[in-house]
Amino acid sequence: MSVEAYKETLEFQAEVKQLLKLMIHSLYSNKEIFLRELVSNASDACDKLRFEALGNDDIYGGDSELKIHIEFDKEAKTLTISDNGIGMSREEIVDNIGTIANSGTKKYLDSLTGDQMKDSHMIGQFGVGFYSTFIVADKVTVKSRRAGQAADQAVLWESEGEGSYTLETIEKDARGTDIILHIREAEEEFLDSWRLKTIIHTYSDHISLPITMPKDPEPVSEDEETKDEVVVPENEVVNKASALWARAKSEIKDEEYHEFYKHIAHDFEAPMTWSHNKVEGSQAYTSLLYIPAKAPFDMYERDRKQGIKLYVKRVFIMDDTDHLMPQYLRFIRGVIDSDDLPLNVSREILQHNKVIDKIKSASVKKVLGLLEKMAKNDAEQYATFWKAFGNVMKEGPIEDFANKERIAKLFRFATTETGSAEQTVSLEEYIGRMKEGQEQIYYITSDSHVSAKNSPHLEVFKGKGLEVLLLSDRIDEWLVQHLMDFEGKSLQNIAKGDLDLGSFEDEEEKKAQEKAEGDLKGIVELMKEKLVDKTKEVRITHRLTDSPSCLVLDSNDMGMQMQQIMRAAGQDVPPSQPILEINPEHKLIKQLKDMADQEKFENWSHILFDQAMLAEGGQLEDPAAYVKRVNDMLNT
Ligand code: ADP
Ligand code: MG
Repeated sequence: MSVEAYKETLEFQAEVKQLLKLMIHSLYSNKEIFLRELVSNASDACDKLRFEALGNDDIYGGDSELKIHIEFDKEAKTLTISDNGIGMSREEIVDNIGTIANSGTKKYLDSLTGDQMKDSHMIGQFGVGFYSTFIVADKVTVKSRRAGQAADQAVLWESEGEGSYTLETIEKDARGTDIILHIREAEEEFLDSWRLKTIIHTYSDHISLPITMPKDPEPVSEDEETKDEVVVPENEVVNKASALWARAKSEIKDEEYHEFYKHIAHDFEAPMTWSHNKVEGSQAYTSLLYIPAKAPFDMYERDRKQGIKLYVKRVFIMDDTDHLMPQYLRFIRGVIDSDDLPLNVSREILQHNKVIDKIKSASVKKVLGLLEKMAKNDAEQYATFWKAFGNVMKEGPIEDFANKERIAKLFRFATTETGSAEQTVSLEEYIGRMKEGQEQIYYITSDSHVSAKNSPHLEVFKGKGLEVLLLSDRIDEWLVQHLMDFEGKSLQNIAKGDLDLGSFEDEEEKKAQEKAEGDLKGIVELMKEKLVDKTKEVRITHRLTDSPSCLVLDSNDMGMQMQQIMRAAGQDVPPSQPILEINPEHKLIKQLKDMADQEKFENWSHILFDQAMLAEGGQLEDPAAYVKRVNDMLNT
């Protein structure tokens, strides 16, 4: 007997305890979902075994017909769900069902309020998987034998769902896992063949493995001799047991699509929409691609595990996060089933495979098509989509050059026209509203919507009725570096370089400007001298109407947010000084002209610079100095 063989009692991780308590004591309107969770886990376990067997056929040990079996004992009040999948070792059991690794569940726990009513309402929105057994059971026993391990190295896990569980090494003849639920007194309805079959039909028909149950005994007729007969119950398959995606679209109900999605995506909510395609011809494959209703929790995590499930001729091969969908569509969940790949396909093969590349590019087009359709037919749903996934979609033009224009059409932005932080305006809509003679798509970037919206740079655009995109997502500056134009119109940052409003400037304005430049030449020179450490140039501007000053970047300088992001990422970005532009029409600037006091002039110059920085949403290098200067000014 190994050292580990003795029986031990272990404490659940604190989060698990919290979850269990909530689960048991919350009023669950949908108790039956525990069965879906267990079947889903059993099916996953079989998929994992199949994947492991790709590299090592021996692991089947002669038993390669994977299946799930469900039976109950009315007297003992137990319900048992068995599979001959991968099983769990002692360590794996502790890791998988003694702790919470699932990041969705963790997030859920973080969001708990302590208010039982609210919390129990929320629980339905998160995957609670295995623990849902305790809704209907007051004790759960798990017997599991990891594939490849000896019969006497199996493990027994048992818990009453309170604070702890026990572990024991046992013997188990067959590979895989038995989950034995000791059904609570009030939940005996689940010890019923018809009830169980109905639940399986509702939630697990799409599972491609056969789910078997003992056949109900035939009614025995009077004259039949049954005395000495040993009744060996026959099993019957109780689900459809055919891959959902392989069935004809017309025969699949929406609910079935939903349940299948929940299973593969480990999501508790139905998807937003999906696209199911059978492709025939030189390359035959089927794809079923879903857009989730909400952003998956791990969308921004490097080692996220979910994505597209790859099948070959109905056999599960692997979960793939890299080869079948580009990164900017990493929220897509679904299945791709190819008839042309070899069954022993490995990750290495996927890397440079023509079949895969073709499937990927066709699938991307399918998803883009699905989104285009949604944008056209259901603006409300599209708005929800954009809120959840717009930020990720913005990686598109950078990653997927070939589809750049199509992706850009799907973008939505906040603009000066809508007056709202919601991103609802498409580039096409923007172009449709462009003023006659307008050649460019104007935008401004900032680190918040409010500072973009109130930027002094917008003043002249407001005056002339020109719409400006307000970009305030972190990725936006990066995006505009790659999306330089759209439908022949270039994107122009209004806070960069010389402002050339082309046909929107009339001759009079130009003359007035030239005159102002002449009048204020002395001031400009002097200010440049005073601000030599802060700015590389001071000049007269006509982009301001209300503000005295603003900061502008040189046309080839990196945007301020971009600089911050790069520095935060540890990159060595040389500081680039902005240009200070002053409004010749502003009272404060006019006063500067006749200012004799040099010290006062210097203070005012600094204040004008610092205020421009603040108005941009930027940070002052020396806020205390700014405050002192303003106070001095107020005191005079
Ligand atoms: P999830 O399925 O979302 O990972 P669960 O709570 O349903 O979360 O299951 C937790 C983990 O326990 C699974 O990821 C798996 O590793 C393990 N597990 C559960 N049931 C089985 C089973 N029948 N066979 C093998 N492993 C299982
Ligand atoms: Mg599960």
